Amino acid sequence: MRILLTEDDPALAELLLRACKQEGYSADWVSDGVAADLALASETYDALVLDLGLPRMDGLEVLKRLRKRGSHLPVMILTAREAIADRVAGLDSGADDYLPKPFAVAELQARLRALVRRRHGGTASACLELGRLRYDTASRQVFIDGKEVEFSSRERETLSCLLHRPGKVVSKQALTTALSSWDAALGSNAIEVYIHRLRRKLETAGIAIRTVRGLGYVIEPSDDRAD
Ligand code: CA
Repeated sequence: MRILLTEDDPALAELLLRACKQEGYSADWVSDGVAADLALASETYDALVLDLGLPRMDGLEVLKRLRKRGSHLPVMILTAREAIADRVAGLDSGADDYLPKPFAVAELQARLRALVRRRHGGTASACLELGRLRYDTASRQVFIDGKEVEFSSRERETLSCLLHRPGKVVSKQALTTALSSWDAALGSNAIEVYIHRLRRKLETAGIAIRTVRGLGYVIEPSDDRAD
């Protein structure tokens, strides 16, 4: 279970991170709206905890952009207790729940559990599929023809990023951001290396990763030659 936390108050972010950890969720933290938007556009999450008052891009704008991309990701907004207008605007823009600040950690955890449960109980699939390839976003396992295939964390991260937009270009920058979110030390040709490894592993599944010069990479079924 992977949660994106957006909060510009470091102390509160610390509390949120701890709350997620206690629940056994892995969590990424970003402190401004632009970083949140970027992470949401390139990464796979199971839920979003969204502060509305964020620097660089307002939380409401982040939410609107997320829904505009067609995402059904469960979203819980954090608002000041007295900011009823914000809360209404958030729910109108597609938030699933809200939590007024200040809040008790236990309440946050209960709300998160409910959000995640709703997601997995709902009709929305937690799997990304392309041809014979299936990626389970909850367990982060990769299957080819129903058989699990071993991928390193970084390979999985790269694959997940690409699989979120099959047939569309994913920029090298988006992949770099996705990988650096959990490891800052990323070599200059790291993306090429992971793409190369993924290509080798996906070849037998009839999946190709095409380089679009100067733009990025596209994951797609390879043409009929593979059959
Ligand atoms: Ca704030």
